[in-house]
Amino acid sequence: MTDEKLSRRRLLQGALVSIAAVPAATLIARSAQASAPLSESDPTAKSLAYVGDASKVDPATNPTFKAGQHCANCIQYTGKAGAAEGPCNIFPNKSVKAAGWCKVWVQKPA
Ligand code: SF4
Repeated sequence: MTDEKLSRRRLLQGALVSIAAVPAATLIARSAQASAPLSESDPTAKSLAYVGDASKVDPATNPTFKAGQHCANCIQYTGKAGAAEGPCNIFPNKSVKAAGWCKVWVQKPA
């Protein structure tokens, strides 16, 4: 193989890496935006009785709540284990507290 072919190949590889890096940078920027904390006063959060601290759930108004239920062990929670907060499939572009809770809580499979 000639030096000219090698340098053309390297140039093409460099261009492909650059093209691939742009969408990755966009995804990283979007994931940073996804971390806006969910407010308990958000209309959807209110309708689902979301609270940032499951120990403050009123069992009289939320009879499905059982002690031990919280966002970190909900099937909809996609945050990292041990993190204080993370994304939830029900609230796109928001983060919920790992210790939070809402009416659609479902046990995450072990
Ligand atoms: Fe938390 Fe699950 Fe409700 Fe999302 S769906 S806010 S993770 S309890």
